[in-house]
Amino acid sequence: MTERSHPLPDLPKVLRLKKGDRLLVATHNAGKLAEFRQLFAPFGLDLVSAAELGLPEPEENGTSFAENAFLKAHAAAQGADLLSLADDSGLCVDALDGRPGIHTARWTGPDRDFSFGMQRVEDALQKVGARMPDQRRAAFVATLCLAAPDGIHALFEGRAQGTLVWPPRGERGFGFDPMFQPDGHARTFGEMDSALKHSWTPQKTGLSHRARAFARLVEAACEL
Ligand code: IMP
Repeated sequence: MTERSHPLPDLPKVLRLKKGDRLLVATHNAGKLAEFRQLFAPFGLDLVSAAELGLPEPEENGTSFAENAFLKAHAAAQGADLLSLADDSGLCVDALDGRPGIHTARWTGPDRDFSFGMQRVEDALQKVGARMPDQRRAAFVATLCLAAPDGIHALFEGRAQGTLVWPPRGERGFGFDPMFQPDGHARTFGEMDSALKHSWTPQKTGLSHRARAFARLVEAACEL
């Protein structure tokens, strides 16, 4: 571990995280929860999820990743009276003018079928004639919101740029991972183990959108 003076002094005290603290991860998505458990492993926090506490999923009616992350984090923090962390994330495809974006989960249909969602993205790409790699550029975006029950919160964003491949490759990860090949890598996220997908350590800034947002949160809020 590196010597550092974090957490940064300007983050309100109620949002700082230290060993043994309880943190509610405001998600019902098992893939996201698994990634947060891995990312937070070095910090010795007591993580619990909204699904485990039986909290309802709030309606995500914001118009940006930040608004939706804020809605989810506040609903959880107030519902359970705990410091809460929400992630709103999605896939923004250049040739589709940024779609599916904040509606990425909806593109997987009522059963949250990721194969169906990937096929839908591929069909949309075919429809606009995007066949060459440079026509198939996309970014995964994640915005994290850390919120205290008293309403104080902070936001952290991360992005990963890459190219969408077809057919999908790999069985790892979740969601649209098998069709996303991050820049600088020959493998899709679906072909990477989680350690490589995150590529986060206290010395590194991360590879995935979630790990990059997490690196910013750690910088601001966590004691190592
Ligand atoms: P939401 O943040 O709950 O609105 O859902 C975001 C959706 O984006 C997820 O259900 C996945 O389909 C997709 N997504 C977000 N992050 C990732 C990722 O790391 N890999 C693959 N798909 C992701």
